[in-house]
Amino acid sequence: MHIVDILSSLSMPSGWLFLFVVMMGSSAHAESMYDHEVKNYELITPLVIPSEADRNPPAELEIQFRAFNRSFCLLLHEDLEFQDLEVESLEAHGPSKSVRVNFTFFEGTGNDSTDSVVAGYLCSEVLCGTFAEDGVVYFMESAEFFFSNSNYSRRAIIYRSEDVEGLVEDLWRKHGFNDSQKQRNSNPYLVRNLLFPASGNYFGRYYFPKGIDRSAQPGADYACRIEMVADHTLYQYFNKDIDTLSAFLYLHGKYADSVFRKTDFDGDGFKDNIRIVVKKVFVYKSANEANYPMAYAADLIDFLKRFTRRIQNHCLSVCLCYRRYSSQAIGRAYKPTSGIRGSPGGICQKVLKLQSGRSAYVPSSLNTAVVTIRNNRGQTLPLITTLLAVTHEIGHSFGSDHDPMDNLLCSPGGDKGYYLMHPKTTRELKDFSNVFSPCSRQEIHRTLQERGECLKVYAGTCGNGIREGDEECDCGWEGICKTLDRCCTPADAKTPEKPCTFRRSAGAQCSPKESPCCSDDCSVGTSNDTVCYHSDATCLVSYCEVNSSSCPVPQQAPDGYPCQSTSKTCLRGTCNSSVCLDNGLKACTCEERHLSCFVCCEKSNQCRPAHTIGLKNPWVNIFVALAGSPCNGSENFRCDGAGNCINVKARRIDEKVGQEVLWWTLAILIVVFVILLFMFLCLLRSHLAPSTLQVSSNSNLTS
Ligand SMILES: [Zn+2]
Repeated sequence: MHIVDILSSLSMPSGWLFLFVVMMGSSAHAESMYDHEVKNYELITPLVIPSEADRNPPAELEIQFRAFNRSFCLLLHEDLEFQDLEVESLEAHGPSKSVRVNFTFFEGTGNDSTDSVVAGYLCSEVLCGTFAEDGVVYFMESAEFFFSNSNYSRRAIIYRSEDVEGLVEDLWRKHGFNDSQKQRNSNPYLVRNLLFPASGNYFGRYYFPKGIDRSAQPGADYACRIEMVADHTLYQYFNKDIDTLSAFLYLHGKYADSVFRKTDFDGDGFKDNIRIVVKKVFVYKSANEANYPMAYAADLIDFLKRFTRRIQNHCLSVCLCYRRYSSQAIGRAYKPTSGIRGSPGGICQKVLKLQSGRSAYVPSSLNTAVVTIRNNRGQTLPLITTLLAVTHEIGHSFGSDHDPMDNLLCSPGGDKGYYLMHPKTTRELKDFSNVFSPCSRQEIHRTLQERGECLKVYAGTCGNGIREGDEECDCGWEGICKTLDRCCTPADAKTPEKPCTFRRSAGAQCSPKESPCCSDDCSVGTSNDTVCYHSDATCLVSYCEVNSSSCPVPQQAPDGYPCQSTSKTCLRGTCNSSVCLDNGLKACTCEERHLSCFVCCEKSNQCRPAHTIGLKNPWVNIFVALAGSPCNGSENFRCDGAGNCINVKARRIDEKVGQEVLWWTLAILIVVFVILLFMFLCLLRSHLAPSTLQVSSNSNLTS
């Protein structure tokens, strides 16, 4: 177990830039609370149309606006699970009590994109939340929250993930936590103190957690039911509005769920249906409460340690606060060390007794994470940063380390950016910033196998747009299904139609949203040559069948079928042959750097790339070495998975140089500004000087 972090990106250059912008008098940016993070956004006045004007809050909404040179129309309906949320609050000198939330959380889709997903709530009459469309993630927030000193009611700001400067930076190495052994030794507080479960018969014995048990329903969704906690500073930041605060916390859980849900952790080619479900919201209203361990905390690590004294039995408990700390870290979490049985911390951790002082043992819940939504300069962080920070911390709780910098597969950089668990500043958030890297996926899979016992079957709800449990499909409600999936019966359909089944009344046999073997007109396939599944690592493949929408159980791929990203080929169901061997040639290594990342074969005593001697694969023609494998005879050179051999060391130096150039540019600009200011003052002085002289000579005269 160890404590790991996420940092906001507030490096000095952006601070100077901010100062410079203020000095140059750019008013629109100077008044924004966090323009250094969101460098590009649009101010919009969305048109919000409730479908039933008489119901307050409304159950369905349509939101229209124009931004980024196009029109948007979002169709939203009530998220019924938000109504089931347990909300509890603790006031000063009183017992904790349940709160009824009279608020609507919305989910839905855009009306001209079938793959979009929207989640959010109304704040100051605009949508606060996020939606993804055509591969772009958009974030919307009330402009009133975004700007500190102006009246922007009923207006919203919208930005894309690419409009935001990076959010994570390296503290990992600064602390010397380079590997888990060092990590364990470097944290004597947690290592020396023997860890005992606090209750039951286990006292005095080591407790070993169990792995996730999927035997009851193998294909079902399994949920980690989490608790979201707001401390008193966040409650005050939300003007003591528990409804909006609950929706804000719930949104963070929804976002993490959207990342986990789509991920294939075990590498079998299918998403694993691991869900993050917010079960409870707990709010601390006042610092003056005896039973409140985090009333004061010196820093974020101290805050996390105090938070662990709050005993709970959830899969995970995540506390959000609005506190300013001097460190750049904005999140902390306990991470289990995979491979070490019984290593405490992270998801499903039962209550332990930790030694505090010489003989006292304090019961502690180490299935915990904390995030502050304020940076070390006191500014409120944008929604995108806090959503990613909470998901990043939950990733640690599920056993993921930071992505290793020297592994191209897990830290690709370049056009794709870095993955969610990257430790360093990413200058721009790109495609991968809300995706777990192959390294994270492996670690999380292992953690689920070792300690995922508290993840239980999640039945789901018809109408949330996600197919769960025994649903055949789920397109949401009527208004949305019209655009999203005409093959599926909406959640609010009248009997005798059965919601969340294929719309048989309209002749639908299947849904292309649910199966690659279903055609756009909701009918089953007519040919059997479409590949509906192939596993890159294990040489399994399956083809659609005639008259069936289901993808058959995968079979052994034929010999010569490319695997491991075309670096190898299948032979008798195992991925360890090569295109050269399959064709009676010897495999060899091309020496020239520009050829060294291709699969090369020896022909006529010459070593040449396979594709240049007519050996091509059915998809991309070329056979290439696996991304991240060494090339050019040096550890500093790695293949990028597209046949290029890249100098990884040079790339890292480039990134550093880039930062230095920015520094120097700013320094020069400031010097130029100071010189101009100085010249201006000199001019002013020479301009004023004669009149002063005149006055003095006049006064001399009069006297
Ligand atoms: Zn981290």
